[in-house]
Amino acid sequence: MNPDALLTNLNPSQQAAVSSFADTLAILAGPGSGKTHTLTSRTAWLLSQGLQPWNIIVATFTVKAAREMKERIGKLLGNGLESKLVLGTFHSISRRYLARYGHLIGIKKDFGIADTGDSAAIIKRICKRNNYLMDPKVARSRISGRKARGGVVQEKSKSGAKSVEAQEFDAIYTAYEEALKVSNLLDYDDLLLRCVELLRDHPDCVSNVEAVLIDEFQDTNLVQFDLMRLFASQRKRITIVGDPDQSIYGFRAAEIKNYKRMLRQYPDTVTIALEENYRSSASILMSALSVIEQDDARVKKSLMPTHLVGTRPVLRKLAGAYKEAEWIVTEIQRCQGMTGGLLDLNDYAILLRSSALSRLIETALGKAGIAYKMVGGLRFYDRMEIKTILDYLRVINQPDNNDALARIINTPSRRIGDATIKSLLEEADRKKVTLWSLLLGTVQGRQATTVKIQKQAEQALSKFVNIILTAQGKLKSAAKDGPATVELINFVLEKTNYERWLEEHHNDVTKARWDNVKELITQAADFQDLVTSGYEDEALPEIEGLEQQDDDNHLSKFLSNVALASEVKNDDVEGTQTAQVTISTIHAAKGLEWPVVFIPAAYEGSIPHSRADDVDEERRLLYVAMTRAKALLYMSVPLKNSQSEATTLCPFLTSTSLINLLEKRGPSLGSSMVQSMSQILRRTCPTQKGIAESSSFLRSIEDDLFPEDGEESGESNSRWNLEMSDKNGSNYLNNQQAPKRR
Ligand code: ATP
Ligand code: MG
Repeated sequence: MNPDALLTNLNPSQQAAVSSFADTLAILAGPGSGKTHTLTSRTAWLLSQGLQPWNIIVATFTVKAAREMKERIGKLLGNGLESKLVLGTFHSISRRYLARYGHLIGIKKDFGIADTGDSAAIIKRICKRNNYLMDPKVARSRISGRKARGGVVQEKSKSGAKSVEAQEFDAIYTAYEEALKVSNLLDYDDLLLRCVELLRDHPDCVSNVEAVLIDEFQDTNLVQFDLMRLFASQRKRITIVGDPDQSIYGFRAAEIKNYKRMLRQYPDTVTIALEENYRSSASILMSALSVIEQDDARVKKSLMPTHLVGTRPVLRKLAGAYKEAEWIVTEIQRCQGMTGGLLDLNDYAILLRSSALSRLIETALGKAGIAYKMVGGLRFYDRMEIKTILDYLRVINQPDNNDALARIINTPSRRIGDATIKSLLEEADRKKVTLWSLLLGTVQGRQATTVKIQKQAEQALSKFVNIILTAQGKLKSAAKDGPATVELINFVLEKTNYERWLEEHHNDVTKARWDNVKELITQAADFQDLVTSGYEDEALPEIEGLEQQDDDNHLSKFLSNVALASEVKNDDVEGTQTAQVTISTIHAAKGLEWPVVFIPAAYEGSIPHSRADDVDEERRLLYVAMTRAKALLYMSVPLKNSQSEATTLCPFLTSTSLINLLEKRGPSLGSSMVQSMSQILRRTCPTQKGIAESSSFLRSIEDDLFPEDGEESGESNSRWNLEMSDKNGSNYLNNQQAPKRR
């Protein structure tokens, strides 16, 4: 691999960052400046310098980013080695280490992952059973907060005595930890914390790690910082990339400290800035910058556009939320019509401050027959029919999971009452055994339960236990990496008469639900292919002299993949072929980009959110949302919200200088819009299918717009006074002139 080839198409600062020999390197730069792009190239460059992929750890913020990065490195190198990189989110990397070495710190093999729903259910149960007053949701976020701080208990009042509330919280915390332990589960926070513990006590586990690279450093918390340090404990070669202006996870204080901590711990850190934005049209970038610049306290950075001015961002007022949703749909249709195949529905995103805003938009899209996917809302894996099958698989894989087991004992209905299940759970808790061993003892007549069970229910219970036991037998006899998952899903569907149950009990939407089940089977099959082809290589390298466990079976891998995908929230259902508009929360859109972005509900109370107490963070959220857009940005505000209350425009959008940059009506989707869009798309994703297909269409438009004499055209270009020339001195498009300087 020729390392120089990795540097072509990068600007000089990016090149310097990619090929830096500094041990610790920090790339701090604004949105769209190519931080992730640079990190990816640097990973490939390290490989070209002789590092082995299994000696490199790359932490991304989302599962999707991890996969995209892997694909790009694969294209850059073309030798298939990317599958051997230890690349993923902090959570997935930690899970891999714990699966391999967790036994060294007493973690049982085949532990499961408690997702947000599991944790919530456990805490709710604890609160209810003990009549605690604390809201389970509050308890959950406090538990998570405590774990993020390293799990320390310190909730004392000034007098030194613990308040009743603090005592109650401690009791919930302890009971929750016990419940996880009994079910052999680790929650998301545990994955990180226990991995810190593992690497601190057994640094040998990372003795082979030569380089650590971290994306989105601004949103790392303390535990993740510790992990980074521990990953790199043998060889202090670290690259971080981040942007303080995009810190949106309430960890800003932690972030500032983390960067300072970084400089303190690694005083030789070399910092590189990237100052050109490759993502957005100049008008979108300038509007976004004029929002973030309202934050006086921020450290100023330079960020210059590299694209044409393009179409001005829109700020549109509409009569109400319903009208706003309809308007969005009309604009998508208008834009689709105008761009003649340049875009497909995957190129549109609707970004929301909170997922509660999505209902009207979903309805409007549905009515218009526009396919969409929800990200960060009610997700695929949370759907009842999917969750139930996953619970079956989890129990088959790891029957100690009390909550999953309790959920499926009577699903599909076996006439085993809720009261019976509750009593069984309580008895298991009292005896400090798992629900599964209690059931097994009862069914096999070894140990009677004190819970009264009707004869009919007893038979049903015994049948249920047998389904699980048979499935477990199948799992054991399958080859370790054999295609067990699809077979097991089909087995469960058959034994539980699942389709019929869906028909009988949920006949309103049976077809949609059954389609989802089929989609799950497709996903399981796809995942099997990835694993068997070696693309999704999860194996950590062997380390001599260190006792390690076998890799997980296929089902375990699939289940943890699902659990971690739903944790990161922005993973859509992979494998869906049809193009779909994305509806996402702003939080989950971090790091991503789309040609066309809508930000509805731009009013006070929505953004900044009424419950948010950090106004600066709310401003950063709007900045993140605006900077996701490449070519068209639509912001809108209904005069009345969905509760028919009058709204006030989001205060970050009221400055005169900003308002002057925005279009108040619809954008004129003329040929100049299409041309500027094509320019951006061609540079940011030259291989995109739509662009190749529509190239003749584009050429005809470009010819119209840019006659040979280079006469300037375009609706709003003259408003701008920007340095737009390409670094190499060439024009962006063959016969196009950048806007003239005044
Ligand atoms: P964010 O802060 O939002 O995560 P980022 O700094 O990580 O943004 P990237 O996502 O890496 O930015 O890059 C933004 C877009 O610009 C991508 O489509 C990327 O392919 C493109 N890009 C980056 N560098 C260049 C370059 N030198 N030439 C052309 N396109 C580039
Ligand atoms: Mg990025």
